[in-house]
Amino acid sequence: MVERLTWRKLALELAFFYLPWIGIGLLVGDLAWWLLLASVLVLLWNFYHQLRLSDWLWKERSLTPPSGAGNWVPLFSGIYRLQKRNRRRRQDLVNLIRRFRNGAESLPDAVVVYDYDGSIVWCNKLAEELLGLRMPSDAGQYIGNLIRTPEFISYLADSDFDHALEMRSPVNASSTLEFRTMPYAEGEYLMVVRDVTQLKQLEGMRRNFFANVSHELRTPMTVLRGYLEMSEDPDMLVGPMWDKAHGVMTEQLTRMESLVEQLLTLSKIEASAKLELDHIVDVPSMLDILQKEAQTLSGESDHKLCFEIDNGLKVYGDDDQLRSAISNLVYNAVKHTPEGAAVTVKWFDSHTGPRLEVIDSGEGIAPQHIDRLTERFYRVDKARSRETGGSGLGLAIVKHALSHHESNLEITSTVGQGSMFSFTLPERLRC
Ligand code: ADP
Repeated sequence: MVERLTWRKLALELAFFYLPWIGIGLLVGDLAWWLLLASVLVLLWNFYHQLRLSDWLWKERSLTPPSGAGNWVPLFSGIYRLQKRNRRRRQDLVNLIRRFRNGAESLPDAVVVYDYDGSIVWCNKLAEELLGLRMPSDAGQYIGNLIRTPEFISYLADSDFDHALEMRSPVNASSTLEFRTMPYAEGEYLMVVRDVTQLKQLEGMRRNFFANVSHELRTPMTVLRGYLEMSEDPDMLVGPMWDKAHGVMTEQLTRMESLVEQLLTLSKIEASAKLELDHIVDVPSMLDILQKEAQTLSGESDHKLCFEIDNGLKVYGDDDQLRSAISNLVYNAVKHTPEGAAVTVKWFDSHTGPRLEVIDSGEGIAPQHIDRLTERFYRVDKARSRETGGSGLGLAIVKHALSHHESNLEITSTVGQGSMFSFTLPERLRC
């Protein structure tokens, strides 16, 4: 065990060194010369060790110190201990930084660390993707030179980091990003960037949805209020006028009822958790009832309803949701097919699974509308849809109900000739 240098040790060592030389000097004479020779030797010996120390510190990369002697041993060992401690600390720091970076890489958000003057220190992979930054080449660059939008520059300049900034992505104009910045280490800031495109779209959809529902309800309510106000004058609603008012009010109430019913069905289907799909659904007998209902709906229009059903083909699924989906498709076909024309419904086992096809010979749908038909409240012809009592929610219900059965609605249509709405259930749902 090496101990540190003390005055006592130094003095003892010096005394041990000089004693023999003093002895020789006293014996042979010329003591001063002998002492001078001894001092020169001490000086050379110290120079030699200084040189070795300097070589070790400046030239050699090894951690182990040169082997020293005498007073130099505690110095070499002391420096060696210091170096070892520094190296351990540096390793701890490197591990800490690595842990921070790994943590920041696995965050679902983009992270950028920048200096008080805006120069980038580090960013994670997601920041490279969302903001178009490049590491390590962008390290040290002013962040405002790389994200140049005016909103971002003034956000940086204001340094009002209590508020988040929302703006279009500098690399993809169709996505919206939210920037949040907070002071981080001394003189450094941490910027967290999230892609909020979906959130914004959902917000927009929610706003649209409420606007649509209010709009749909307002029309019948205005009509009802009009008749109610008229009824205040006993002479107004009499005779044929009353007959007309009664008819219109009943029609508007039916519309509101059907809208509320469709809304409830849609919200029930949307909110339902993943279905187990272990109930047997008797689709053939469901279609049997539907055929009668379709006939009633057709009324005097006298459509040629043709149901080609594989009577043995039952499936696993949710009875209510499949009934909603199929009935919406069949009713739509009847509503959109002119008097006396044909509507064909087929339920059969295709090579990919149980399949339903509803084929009408109605007005058809132009291609630009087809992808949007399953959006809530989307209607090709609003006025016509209202006439037929449509709420614009039917196909949205079909879409959700089918997606719970791992299936999709397929629509093919030719304007002026008719449309086919179909879906295929996965084979594993066949009973
Ligand atoms: P609606 O209650 O208005 O029928 P849907 O969601 O069921 O609402 O349908 C959305 C729109 O799709 C309808 O308004 C109509 O324009 C169109 N559509 C649906 N089925 C057919 C069909 N068989 N033929 C032509 N257009 C259809």
